[in-house]
Amino acid sequence: MSETDLTRRRLLAAAAAAPLALGATRARAQTAQGQPMPAGAALPELPGERSRWAIVGLGSFAIGQVIPGFADARQSRMTAFVSGNAAKARDLGARHGVARFYDYASYDTMKDDAEIDCVYIVLPVGLHAEYTVRALEAGKHVLCEKPMASTSAECERMIAAAKANNRQLGVAYRVHFEPTNREALRRIKAGELGAIRHVQNDHGFNANPQFPPHKWRLEKALAGGGSMFDIGVYGLNTSLMMLESDTPVSVSAVYAYPRDDPRFAEVEGGIDWRLTMASGVNVMGSSSYCYSPYASRQRYFGANASLIMDPATTYYDNSLVMEGGGQPRRELGSGNPATQFAAQLDGFSEAARANRPHLTPGEMGLRDIRLIEAMYRSGDAEGAVIAL
Ligand code: NDP
Repeated sequence: MSETDLTRRRLLAAAAAAPLALGATRARAQTAQGQPMPAGAALPELPGERSRWAIVGLGSFAIGQVIPGFADARQSRMTAFVSGNAAKARDLGARHGVARFYDYASYDTMKDDAEIDCVYIVLPVGLHAEYTVRALEAGKHVLCEKPMASTSAECERMIAAAKANNRQLGVAYRVHFEPTNREALRRIKAGELGAIRHVQNDHGFNANPQFPPHKWRLEKALAGGGSMFDIGVYGLNTSLMMLESDTPVSVSAVYAYPRDDPRFAEVEGGIDWRLTMASGVNVMGSSSYCYSPYASRQRYFGANASLIMDPATTYYDNSLVMEGGGQPRRELGSGNPATQFAAQLDGFSEAARANRPHLTPGEMGLRDIRLIEAMYRSGDAEGAVIAL
């Protein structure tokens, strides 16, 4: 044994006999020790016990937001993809650990698949009703993207199918699960604004007919309606969420877009609307496919204070500012908007497992489509007031 080895052995023996001699901090850092379960730790469902989801339509929203949302979900997991593009579905399946695949022809055979509890419809609006009803008839619970369907009659058919098959039907109004909007709702309900006197909202972007996800939005058969269906519905639905104890009694609207713009041969490019509530509050909204930049803006004016949300309903970046109430203007931090996707999935999984209505049920989607239909009736009559 060399002199070097002997010296090293002596040093190691000395360290083992008197670890503190090397420095207390260093000795402790070298000791890995198991610890008890942290008190109050929120434990996720075991993967095998989470609700199992099929995603129908692998387009931009499904791939960009819905599928990644499962990574943060605690009660939901994906087991199947439904797509007309098998190569895309298998590629995404390999990335996300999904191994069951259906296309639109084999869709109904999902009824024999015990690995699917819930179906998430992320198809163009004109296909929502058909694929929702077929999934309900296959015995699955259905979360359907907004807006619920092309017509109120389709919405009624979807609700009837859910009842007939004893399954839950939700509309994916994600804003109800988004922390900034939940905080705004909490403050309004707590009376921090005083009585609400006025609500204003603007939602819009510039539609590009060359961009595939915009192309179908300009075709009535696939889109159902125009900007009000696609983006104005956020202002409508969120305002009604904030005014939950009030009821709409009348609506009026005027179209607001260049009539010679070839993009809008089939659907409206913009609409300015007013919803009057039983309390007398007016909700003023605008929706457009004709301007830039993208707008998602809402304001709630109260007798004592006001809330400004700009942006209000985006995926990752919502803002809440309070003004008045005898205090300086203040930004209210309220959590990460990105959590809304997983919260919505888990909310629906829970509702489906308990077989009780989701926070945003089919009836809410039907209410909104009926209101938009009334807006169109008003717009067609040059802004006549339509009693509800
Ligand atoms: P995309 O056009 O990006 O995706 C739609 C997907 O539906 C396609 O990729 C395709 O999937 C499938 N599809 C089946 N038939 C057709 C058809 N005839 N034409 C076009 N697509 C078809 O749309 P989006 O992802 O933007 O929108 C999908 C749904 O999600 C809509 O209901 C929309 O309103 C909603 N949405 C909701 C948002 C939210 O924030 N809640 C945001 C954006 C959209 P495949 O190739 O796999 O068959």
